[in-house]
Amino acid sequence: MTIKNRLDLPSLWEIIPEGRTLMGPGPSDVHPRILGAMGKPTVGHLDPSFQTLMERIKDGLRYAFQTENSLTYPVSAPGSAGMETVFVNLVEPGDKVVVARNGAFGARMIENVTRFGGVVVDVPFDWGTEIDPNKIDDVLRANPDAKILAFVHAETSTGVLSDAATLCEIAQAHDCLTIMDAVTSLGGVPVRLDEWGVDATYSGSQKCLSCSPGLSPVSFSDRAAAVVKNRKTAVPSWFLDLNLVMAYWSGDGGGRTYHHTAPVNALYGLYEALVMLQEEGLDNAWTRHKTQHTILVNGLEGLGLKLPVDPSVRLPQLNLVTIPEGVDDVKVRANLLSEYNLEIGGGLGAFAGKAWRIGLMGHAARPENVTLCLNALRANL
Ligand code: PLP
Repeated sequence: MTIKNRLDLPSLWEIIPEGRTLMGPGPSDVHPRILGAMGKPTVGHLDPSFQTLMERIKDGLRYAFQTENSLTYPVSAPGSAGMETVFVNLVEPGDKVVVARNGAFGARMIENVTRFGGVVVDVPFDWGTEIDPNKIDDVLRANPDAKILAFVHAETSTGVLSDAATLCEIAQAHDCLTIMDAVTSLGGVPVRLDEWGVDATYSGSQKCLSCSPGLSPVSFSDRAAAVVKNRKTAVPSWFLDLNLVMAYWSGDGGGRTYHHTAPVNALYGLYEALVMLQEEGLDNAWTRHKTQHTILVNGLEGLGLKLPVDPSVRLPQLNLVTIPEGVDDVKVRANLLSEYNLEIGGGLGAFAGKAWRIGLMGHAARPENVTLCLNALRANL
C-alpha cells in the first residue's frame, strides 16, 4: 500500500446535510442554544473559570437526577462508558449480580458483569414488557448472597418504562445495591434517585437533555461510594477508576489534579442544557414529553398504526410502532430521510424489521416534529 502525500477531503458541509430532524432512539435534536454554547472559545481545563463550571455542572446534574449525592459528575465519554464506570467500580470478581433483562441494554449489563468477573443471575422478560417486581423479589429471595440488582429504567430497544421505585424498595429489603440505567429516562420521565434509593446510575447527554452525544452523567450514593472505596481488588480500568477520576472532578480539599483532559466544549453544551432544564423546570419537561407523546400516539392510531407496548408502561420519549404487513421498513425510513430530512429508528433484537422506534426526546419533543412525522408517515404508507 502506498501512503498518499496529498488528500482530497471534501468539506464537512459536503458530507453532513443540514436540517435533519432526529426522531429516532438518539441522538435527538440538539437545541441551537446548546450548539451555540459549544462554539464558545475553549479555556484550559484547569482554568479557575472551568473549575467553577465543573462545580455548577455537578449542581445541575444533582437537580436533574433529584439527588444530593456528592459523587455526581459526567464521564467524558458516551452512555456506554457511564455504564462501564458503574459496573467496573462496583463489581468485584465473584460478586453476584441479578440483572433484570427486558431488552438490548439489559443484555449489555450482563456483558459488563461477566467481563469484570461477576456472577450473573439473568432474569429475562419478554421484549416489550416491563420488569415484573414480583419475579425480582422471588429471585432475590432465592439468591440471598446477591450483592447488586441491575435494571434499565427506560428500555430504548422496546420503549418500556419499568417501576424503578418498587424495584429499589425490593432490592433494599434484600440488602442489595441497585444499579439503574437512566440513559433514556433522564429529563423525559421522573427520575428521583434519593426518593427511590438508587445506589448507582448512569445516563447520556444525547437523549432527553437535548445535548450532543459523548458525555455520560453518573451518580453514586454514599453507600455505593463506600463500597468502591473498600474494594478488595483494584478497579481493573485506569480511566474509569472513581478513586482516581474524583481527584479531578471533586473540588474537595481545594484544587484539582490532572487525570485526563475534559472535553471542554462538550461540557459547555451540557451546562447550557442543564441551565435550560432549570429554566423549564423538571415537571414541565416531563409534562411536555407526555403531551407530545399523546398527540403522536393519537395521530399514529389515526393512520391505522399499532403500538405493541401496553399504554400503562409506554415511554413518552420512545414510541415502538408495529410496521404494517407488506410495508418495506428500510424503504420507508430511507424515504423519510431523503424526502423529509427526518430520521426515525428501526427495531432492535426481537423487533428488528418488525417495528419502528419514534423518539420524542428533549428538544425533539415539540409539536412541529410530531406534525412532520405524522405527515411523512401518512405520505409513505
Ligand atoms: N443504555 C441505554 C438504555 C441506551 O439507550 C443507550 C444508547 O442508546 C446506552 C445505554 C448506551 O449509550 P451510548 O450510545 O451513549 O454509549
